Amino acid sequence: MSRLVAFAAIQGGYKVVSQVEGELERALQSQDASTKIGFGNTAYFLPVIYSLTGMKCETLEDLKKPLEFARGLLPPHIKGHNHLPYLGPLLDAGMAGLFAYEVKEALRINREPDFYTFTEDPDIDAGKIWVGPADDTILRKRGVEFVDGSAPGFAAIVGAAPNAEIAKMIIEDYQKKSLYIFCAANHNGKTAVEQCLEAGMQIGWNTRIVPFGPDISSAIFALGFANRAAMAFGGVEPGDYRRMLMYNKNRIFAFVNALGDVGTEWAVAAAGAVNWGFPTLADTDIPEILPTGICTYEHVVANVPHDELCQKSVEVRGLKINVTEIDIPLSFGPAFEGERVRGADLFCQMGGGKTQCTELVKMAEMNEIEDGKVEIVGPDIGDIKEGDTLPLGIYVQIAGREFQTDFEPIMERQIHHLINYIQGIMHIGQRDIAWVRVGKGAIEKGFSLKDIGVVLHAKFHQDFQKIVDKVQVTLYSNKEDVDKLTERARVEYRTRDERVDTMTDEDVETFYSCTLCQSFAPSHVCSVSPERTGLCGAYNWMDCKASFEINPTGPNQPIQKGKVLDPKLGRFEGVDEFIKGASKGAIESYNFYSMVNAPMTTCGCCECIAAMLPSCNGVMTVGRDYAGDTPCGMKFTTLAGVMGGGASSPGFVGHSKFNITQGKFILGDGGLLRVVWMPKVLKDEIYDRINARGKEMGVENFADMIADETVGITEDEILPFLQEKGHPALEMESLIS
Ligand code: SF4
Ligand code: ZN
Repeated sequence: MSRLVAFAAIQGGYKVVSQVEGELERALQSQDASTKIGFGNTAYFLPVIYSLTGMKCETLEDLKKPLEFARGLLPPHIKGHNHLPYLGPLLDAGMAGLFAYEVKEALRINREPDFYTFTEDPDIDAGKIWVGPADDTILRKRGVEFVDGSAPGFAAIVGAAPNAEIAKMIIEDYQKKSLYIFCAANHNGKTAVEQCLEAGMQIGWNTRIVPFGPDISSAIFALGFANRAAMAFGGVEPGDYRRMLMYNKNRIFAFVNALGDVGTEWAVAAAGAVNWGFPTLADTDIPEILPTGICTYEHVVANVPHDELCQKSVEVRGLKINVTEIDIPLSFGPAFEGERVRGADLFCQMGGGKTQCTELVKMAEMNEIEDGKVEIVGPDIGDIKEGDTLPLGIYVQIAGREFQTDFEPIMERQIHHLINYIQGIMHIGQRDIAWVRVGKGAIEKGFSLKDIGVVLHAKFHQDFQKIVDKVQVTLYSNKEDVDKLTERARVEYRTRDERVDTMTDEDVETFYSCTLCQSFAPSHVCSVSPERTGLCGAYNWMDCKASFEINPTGPNQPIQKGKVLDPKLGRFEGVDEFIKGASKGAIESYNFYSMVNAPMTTCGCCECIAAMLPSCNGVMTVGRDYAGDTPCGMKFTTLAGVMGGGASSPGFVGHSKFNITQGKFILGDGGLLRVVWMPKVLKDEIYDRINARGKEMGVENFADMIADETVGITEDEILPFLQEKGHPALEMESLIS
């Protein structure tokens, strides 16, 4: 809290109240005390005073009471030695100033009845550019927009920009965000409204640029409008000041932009607005009030550059922007999610073993990124021909006041279904094994890589409004940049995976479900425990927990694990109960730690699929990024096709790469030591982890005992290798008992 601001505002409070007391006294000397006063055609009297105190001012005499009240609110002057926090007295001073301003405006209308037009649009030809307070007809028409959300709020602009061009830029930014722009006050005789006219803009309620009045006191019309809307549409009773101010704070997204030197008279108005939760952002170097208290975030922010004023105001006020339109040339929606792009329809593809395709979501600082910016680095779809492939890196940066790095994997996992929502585009996989297939139909309609960014920007805003303020998307389509992104992403994936590394399933009472994939595999329910990450590899227990916090009715629900029915196979009463409901009766029960007995269901997203190799008394597993043959006789794609529909298929199970070295991996079937074959790429990727986990289980250098395609791709070919290495699986109890 700045002493200086408090000083200026409290000074301002005294000054304004005394001034207006004088004005009222003069009016009473020349006119009868019963002279009618008011804002014209309104049932709300002087609305700020009426709404907050219940006082109904109808005559000159009636104006005495609110002024007395205002004087009573004025706090003691700040003394030099006083270093207490000033927020309370500051707010009172502000409120006193505002009451006085409303009385002042009533006196002006009494003196000069023609000063304001009281209409929606000013009468510019007649030189009357100030409309004054809105009457109840305008209130009914416009106020409802504040309630139904078609206008999220208003920007109260006091003063004037350095020139007309800058005023135009600022105000147009607000118009684009559907905000009303309430203008009042002048800076050295200049007003933003005059600057709008100079710049050739139309003003009036119809263009949402409302020229209230030329003095700071006319800013009271903005607050009066907000309070009347709360009484008319929000059911707030006059005099219920607490509810009135809370209603405004929570429902009306408004803020003040002070353009020009902030003197005591502006300072008191700004302090007053804080009572409503409306912060002030200034283009000059005034003392800031940064800590939060009344306003959602900061109270007074100084030195904001003009080209950042809109974005910064929206951010400080915590205004959430609604992106309702998804501006792409293709149809979009859940209806297209399950649609496939088959061979004959295929125009081009990214990833899927042909090229690298990687997705990464990272948190950014607010000032680091530009909301809605979508950039393509490398060739676009229009630059290639049918049958071509492209590498692709989808890099999304998200900034938000409430955003945390913990949310990154959750946002990243949305990319899958969101790209699938685009008609004619198919998305498979995740992380660094994603695969995007583009159909010919999409090309005819003009699909561009940019559309992926447009969709992600819009949907992240829509679906995660609470945590997302800015989204910027970069699409890399040249090998060098994609490889760079992939390398960086792999480090991120590892860090995320390792967050659950030290946890065990016994440590927690709650597991989490994931039903994100039910649109493809309707009976599929992933149950995610600390030692069993989701089979896509993109969601671990921590991620599901965070996802539930962001979206309590979403696809990740807590499951009380309840009674342990079988500790070896990993069967839990609570889980069985949950999956019965979540699979709509299709699945009665499954085991966490077995692929042989009632394994978990598998959808098409799995990073790896494990299968039995009976002659070797072992298990193999194959990752999506290995396209060759395997000892079980099926390639990855065939396996995924056979069991990716959401069934529980004994003898097979989908799992993540990371899960292979987690403590409970098929522990009921012998655990990691049962694994006799995996493709070399996979083995190399998790080599150290295999050895570490093998050692824990009593076998040194276990990775070297696992066969791969360089040893063989049939059971017969690999068995001698296993025997030679003394592979532990050969000594285990029979897998098929
Ligand atoms: Fe969720 Fe499982 Fe689908 Fe991953 S594979 S998104 S954990 S349902
Ligand atoms: Zn899936």
